[in-house]
Amino acid sequence: MKTSNVTLLERFLQSTGISTDTRKIVLGNLFFALKGPNFNANSLAEEALAKGAAYAVIDDEAYAHIPKTLLVEDGLKALQDLARLYRQSLQIPIIGLTGSNGKTTTKELLFSVLSQKFHCFATSGNLNNHIGVPLSILSIQAQHEIAVIEMGANKQGDIKELVEIALPTHGLITNIGKAHLEGFGGIEGIKKGKGELFDFLSHHQGTVFLPKDKNVVHEMHAARKFLHTVIANEALYTELVEAKPTVVYRTQLGEEVKSHLPGIYNFENIQMALAVGKYFGLSDEQCHEGIRSYVPNNHRSQFIHIGSNQVLMDAYNANPSSMAAAIQHFAETENNPKIVILGDMFELGDASAEEHASLGALIAQLGFEKVLLVGKHMQHALAHLPRAFYFPDKFGLHVWLQDHPIRDSYLLVKGSRGISLESVLPFLE
Ligand code: ATP
Ligand code: MG
Repeated sequence: MKTSNVTLLERFLQSTGISTDTRKIVLGNLFFALKGPNFNANSLAEEALAKGAAYAVIDDEAYAHIPKTLLVEDGLKALQDLARLYRQSLQIPIIGLTGSNGKTTTKELLFSVLSQKFHCFATSGNLNNHIGVPLSILSIQAQHEIAVIEMGANKQGDIKELVEIALPTHGLITNIGKAHLEGFGGIEGIKKGKGELFDFLSHHQGTVFLPKDKNVVHEMHAARKFLHTVIANEALYTELVEAKPTVVYRTQLGEEVKSHLPGIYNFENIQMALAVGKYFGLSDEQCHEGIRSYVPNNHRSQFIHIGSNQVLMDAYNANPSSMAAAIQHFAETENNPKIVILGDMFELGDASAEEHASLGALIAQLGFEKVLLVGKHMQHALAHLPRAFYFPDKFGLHVWLQDHPIRDSYLLVKGSRGISLESVLPFLE
């Protein structure tokens, strides 16, 4: 017999939390056996129970004879339904956040700001997909007063699925740019896909936070009706003093606040976080303290001093818009000599050759002391860069760096996650 959602909720509430990985089971966990493209975790249910799971949720009848298994139709769907049911029982505001770039950074800033006043929950790391969002929701605890949930998407319908689990009461779209072009089918597709968050908030009387400067997100907002809208910088006024090496801004009282985040694009993220903090009743000082105290990690807009070099490590991910923003910011900094180490931008589909070629043109126009390019797509950038050094993979780059040590330089390192360019660090010492 199939287990009902209500029984699952009861089991969850009695458990010590969800686990989907037998290597990380904690005593009393509710284990979900999820099917991946290459693996069916139903076969691990017994192991999960032996390791201390209280119950194992399975969707293959062949394992239903094992005591303490809970049979459902579809494990992933059961996880998502459970998360929605649990969310419905939580009486707290949830801020849903999506966009092409800057989601995680903005999420972390929101967390840092809101934590000045509230017991705040935020998505851990980048758990922003159809599994990550339900897991995030199910990690919210009774003491949490507010939650920030990052939502990622690479095609139409993804955000719709996620908002129907997280049921956000508030939301924001950081920006619309060229990320996941392949799955969305162009910019219009991206606007429609990310717009699913606005659709939900519009239909459910939610509150929207908008960036200060008029852009595509404002157009998307104007195309729908909202009960409440908050525009960044109208709520809490700030002006930019400088964006390099990191953002410094001036408050209404003339005080300068220094952040740890580089680049003007991060000023947009900061203004969003300030607006959200102010809206939820934090004092101006609490809002600014949230920004001041946030130090980025995980190779995302991170400043690293290594040997005699200074590295702007942004190897966490890359797409055409974040790449352009990062290299333009880097080109404007006064430190010299400037070297860029850039890796492939993935998931661009048919637009890949053209986007890498335009990147090559932009790099040529900005002019850097040295240009090191890594990955097979980057070949398309070479036409504009006759003096660039090219490596089909990161290992070629590592060997080259051993033979040609870089010293006393200022470097930008950025590429898609799959290229893992943070691996160059030991070769820059
Ligand atoms: P993912 O799709 O991997 O979840 P994300 O949207 O969470 O990405 P972040 O990890 O916060 O994005 O930032 C990735 C990079 O995007 C940053 O290191 C920076 O180069 C760039 N970026 C951050 N904010 C902006 C912005 N407002 N506009 C353009 N680019 C940005
Ligand atoms: Mg992210």
